[in-house]
Amino acid sequence: MKKLGLNTICTHVGEIKDEQFKGAVSPMYLSSSYEFIDVDVKRYPRYFNTPNQEYLSKKIAALEHTEDAMIFGSGMAAISTMFLAFLQKGDHLVVQNTLYGGTVNFIKEEFPKYGIEYTFTNGYKVEDFKAAIQPNTKLIHIETPSNPLLTITDIKAIADLGKSKGIVTSIDNTFASPVNQNPIDLGIDMVMHSATKYFGGHSDICAGAVASSKEHIDRIWNVGKNLGGSLSDMTVWMLERSMKTLGLRVKAQTKNALKLAKWLDKHPKISKVYYPGLKSHPEYELAKSQMKGFGAMLSFELAEELDSQQFQQELKLIKSSMSLAGVESTILSPHLTSHSLLTQEERDAVGISNQLLRFSVGIEDIKDLKNDIKQALKVTKQASFA
Ligand code: PLP
Repeated sequence: MKKLGLNTICTHVGEIKDEQFKGAVSPMYLSSSYEFIDVDVKRYPRYFNTPNQEYLSKKIAALEHTEDAMIFGSGMAAISTMFLAFLQKGDHLVVQNTLYGGTVNFIKEEFPKYGIEYTFTNGYKVEDFKAAIQPNTKLIHIETPSNPLLTITDIKAIADLGKSKGIVTSIDNTFASPVNQNPIDLGIDMVMHSATKYFGGHSDICAGAVASSKEHIDRIWNVGKNLGGSLSDMTVWMLERSMKTLGLRVKAQTKNALKLAKWLDKHPKISKVYYPGLKSHPEYELAKSQMKGFGAMLSFELAEELDSQQFQQELKLIKSSMSLAGVESTILSPHLTSHSLLTQEERDAVGISNQLLRFSVGIEDIKDLKNDIKQALKVTKQASFA
């Protein structure tokens, strides 16, 4: 069969055929116990190989152009299992300094207990990664576009760096999703996702995923079965259903985000917009070369010291919300949520100000999103007078 298109993969790859009743969608197998005599595969939820887990992995692998994939109970379960599969006592991780706060916390709080060393880069350029490599570096991890400042790292340059030094490379591809970016095609070894975000897409699922070669996934599986971060089959089934519209949703959200970013960029009450699709973004050309679309996440800062908390409260359609990537537009203050466990000093060092707002653009009509922002800006006062 010819190579399938994105929406066909989303809709059909990884379907389980309902042989018994000929239903149109995959049946949900809720058994946590399967026969073990005379079977090819010993199935068990924590072995990540129940029928629904196994088949949904095929869809994720197809989307990320890999041989294999694994689904986890959360993005953090995916990332922690992946890290612990490739790092042991005495090993060293090189990790980007601008990335999701939970990943930062995991590294800082857990690695010392395991005797794993790490270096956060000074920046997100390939030279910063090169400078951080040590003789015992076993893994380089990047996040691009990064949360929440939408910095863009050169994926191919990092993959080449890893290959030249015999170091495995991994990426958090949550913000772009495979709809907008396929890092494996640029040479990265492993791709992880918080499937809580675009894969789920309706703000009602917590899940994670890693996609890679069969060899790397086997290695992650060996650790995963011990850590036990598997996802319940009911949620696996919901995730499969959600992913059928991944391509449609993310493309619509990406289109909205580009329009909104351009509009916000010209607005007198917005001092700065962070979005890789703006020509003013320092890595616009790089983003254009390695992404299929610029994604549906953007961040911005209010001008004139307007009160960012009041602004969020004044919004009527756009919800202030902890997570991101649902079909509904949401907004948050990174310093109070995803990066709240970092010290003020650490946030200052990576440029996360208290004025920064991270916007997850949904599928709503663009005119309604603009009107909502307009009316909120109109009544928002300066922080000191609020
Ligand atoms: N990676 C990124 C970029 C995220 O934004 C998040 C969560 O916000 C995670 C990983 C962690 O995923 P989860 O919350 O599903 O554990």
